[in-house]
Amino acid sequence: MNYSEVAEKYSQLEGISGRNEMTQVLAELLGRTPIGELPSLVYMTQGKLRPDYEGVELGLAEKLALRAVSTASGASPEKVYSTYVKHGDIGTAAEELLQKKGQGTLFSEGLTLKRVYDALLKIARQSGSGSIELKLRELASLLNDATPSEAKFIMRTVTGELRLGVADYTVLDAAATAFLGGKQARSAIERAYNVHPDLGFVVQAVASKGQEGIEEITVEIGIPIRPMLAERLNSAQAIVKKMGDKSVVAEYKLDGERLQIHKDGKEVKLFSRRLEVITGHYPDAVALVAKYVAARRAILEAEVVAVNQDTGEYLPFQELMHRRRKHGVDQAMADYPVALNFFDILFAGSTDLTGKPYKFRRKKLEELVRETERTRLVPAFTTSDPSRMEDFLEEAIANGCEGLVAKDPDSTYRAGAREFAWIKLKREYRSELTDTIDLVVIGAFHGKGRRAGTYGTYLLAAYDDKRKVHTSIAKIGTGFSDADLERIPNLLKPYESHVKPPGVESKMDPDIWFRPHMVMETIASELTLSPIHTAAMGRIRPGAGISLRFPKFTGKVRDDKGPEDATTEEEIVSMYNRQLKKIGTSQ
Ligand code: ATP
Repeated sequence: MNYSEVAEKYSQLEGISGRNEMTQVLAELLGRTPIGELPSLVYMTQGKLRPDYEGVELGLAEKLALRAVSTASGASPEKVYSTYVKHGDIGTAAEELLQKKGQGTLFSEGLTLKRVYDALLKIARQSGSGSIELKLRELASLLNDATPSEAKFIMRTVTGELRLGVADYTVLDAAATAFLGGKQARSAIERAYNVHPDLGFVVQAVASKGQEGIEEITVEIGIPIRPMLAERLNSAQAIVKKMGDKSVVAEYKLDGERLQIHKDGKEVKLFSRRLEVITGHYPDAVALVAKYVAARRAILEAEVVAVNQDTGEYLPFQELMHRRRKHGVDQAMADYPVALNFFDILFAGSTDLTGKPYKFRRKKLEELVRETERTRLVPAFTTSDPSRMEDFLEEAIANGCEGLVAKDPDSTYRAGAREFAWIKLKREYRSELTDTIDLVVIGAFHGKGRRAGTYGTYLLAAYDDKRKVHTSIAKIGTGFSDADLERIPNLLKPYESHVKPPGVESKMDPDIWFRPHMVMETIASELTLSPIHTAAMGRIRPGAGISLRFPKFTGKVRDDKGPEDATTEEEIVSMYNRQLKKIGTSQ
């Protein structure tokens, strides 16, 4: 398959925003791609190279990308930089400069999809000393053989900025259209994707074996399952009512990190909420699973929480941050031991349990997990009485939890879904205005006085999951400890950008932009309308967005969330409306 064909379809996709039309164009492209090349095509169309859980990251730093364009085009670094700033996009800059050079009019070897894919994979996988030069050479050689329009998409892909707006579900629809003659199989494909979240693999299965290929996809140890998520309601009463006035299982909502644990004999693998492999952060948890889970093969879910060594009490989430360091996990294990709090089991022996009701899974968990100081089952209490659930909430909070998660005992494990089979109840919902809000850092302003030399404030954005853009919502400067002020700029460094990154909408112009990556957890006293911020623009009042009043950083960098997992505009609008209602009733 020639890359020019792919680039042509990308150009077409760029001009489309309607989902149906997008599905059609994508279906044509899938239909024309040889089966063996489908996975690479699918990953690349999403601006990726492998399924997320393999952790192969694109996102060449700005500086290196500019150097590669300069080498390939022969333009001076100054010229490349000014062209980049003029367009605000490295892809268009590369296209223009290669056009000027006259590239593409001369004979050059045509690029294949395979060549581009292999080169990008090589670039992404290089690390360590000498890797910068190797990446540069590889990329420049690719650009040398590219037409200007191909170069545009190559540069956007390699910097992690190919934004065709193709959602996972659009790819699934396109596969159904291309290979099954319609969308009727959509829910089956979706199920397959939720239990085996590798789009390339799923599309290839559909293309090669049709309906049967989808049905063959099952839960597999070693492949993470998309997590089931919780909805939220404001009171125990509303929860019991929503679940049909029956007994529900209320559980402590522990404030730790979610782990999906895959045990295969002696081997134990841990996945985060975002399905990244984080086995290396918790060697102690691995040992606990090996010792106290009485199944040779199993997939379990647990909240891992730091505990006080002397008293066994739960400690706040922040204490897990010590596990994030590249070095020093041993020290962190000694200083901040953890306990595993199991709350679900999705596979045991050779049986997929996701289709079984929760009460069955919980029983299985009780059978298979040996409870010790460090391995526990999440405390649970079954009731249909809201006031007893409220009492349990108070108890959970007194024990250092965030609140409760109420679960429908008859529900199957709904992989990848946020539904009312799980409902969270936190105290903030009752006494304060809003829940914590997870926002993406898109920019920063230089600090003054005590903060000279670091950033004084950060510009944050919510996520518009319909248009797939990040929209500014607040400037934040409160809640940062000295350690945060030192560490956060370093964490953000690889995402710096001198132009407003694509997919970011803001009327403010910070001193430095960041490509959407880091998610900060914040709280605020209330939501207000603002003409300056673009989040939910025009949704409540024409010309006004929604902003946060007195925003404060909670101290949590949510690295278990990606920029697409941030609080959405839709959620912000409903929080705003809830707030209005509350104000209305208190008057
Ligand atoms: P939040 O920001 O409130 O943690 P979230 O978007 O990360 O929310 P939700 O689906 O809203 O995820 O809440 C469920 C999360 O709560 C899980 O991802 C898990 O980490 C945590 N959790 C703590 N205790 C439990 C429990 N008993 N059952 C399920 N999840 C639990």
